[in-house]
Amino acid sequence: MEGIIFDIKRFALHDGPGIRTTVFFKGCPMRCWWCHNPEGIDPESTLINKEVAMGEKRITVKQELGKAYTVEALVQELEKDRVFMDESNGGITLSGGEPLLQHEFIMELLPILKQRGFHVTIDTCGYVNSVVMAASMPFADLYLFDIKHMNESEHLKYTGAMLSTVLKNLRLVADSGGRIRVRIPYIPSINGTDEIAVKYLSTLQPIATAVDAVDILPYHKIAANKYVRFNMENKMDGIAEPDEEQTNAFAEVFRNAGYKVTIGG
Ligand code: SF4
Repeated sequence: MEGIIFDIKRFALHDGPGIRTTVFFKGCPMRCWWCHNPEGIDPESTLINKEVAMGEKRITVKQELGKAYTVEALVQELEKDRVFMDESNGGITLSGGEPLLQHEFIMELLPILKQRGFHVTIDTCGYVNSVVMAASMPFADLYLFDIKHMNESEHLKYTGAMLSTVLKNLRLVADSGGRIRVRIPYIPSINGTDEIAVKYLSTLQPIATAVDAVDILPYHKIAANKYVRFNMENKMDGIAEPDEEQTNAFAEVFRNAGYKVTIGG
């Protein structure tokens, strides 16, 4: 069994507690307009154009994005960072894309990671089969759980996915004793109204005891050049980033409701 991985990020500080090694799995069932890793959406390995220096010139070369790992090879790779994880109460974060899309690989990997004593965080968009979500639960110490919008039709428009499925899985994790950090991408003109904020609060209220924190992720245009490089349509053209004041005001809504809130993860 092999998994297709497009990046392994070491010393990650915003993907769960402590110092973490984050594994980015290829493939995602969503198509978020603001995706920062559009190169990770396609489940297969893909060829991308990469600019490299050659003498004084810059040339474009083809680079394969997405490498196949066996479970054993990946575990060996992750073991290299154990000392940093142990010293910082960190661990491993499975991200993507959507890691649970490669569920057969993940379900071979998770028991081994647990057996070896790693703290495991799953960074999920929640739009997966509930059976798969439930199967991951005995091995996950924490979920970073994205909730991208609170209106069903808007969620569908901006992500291509049903909000009801995401919320069903959120409840499943919370009701089964899972720990959750809720992650909300904040884009004022898309999901930043007071009405939407109130809907977030009413959705979280029944599962509040399972929520360790709410991470507000303000939209920024940092990934815009990827859309040019990968020749992909950027639907966020012309959509403004929030300023600090707007972001703080949005975060304050959740703070006032008693949640621990971070800005930027
Ligand atoms: S869920 Fe995450 S990886 Fe998937 S399209 Fe949305 S932002 Fe990108």
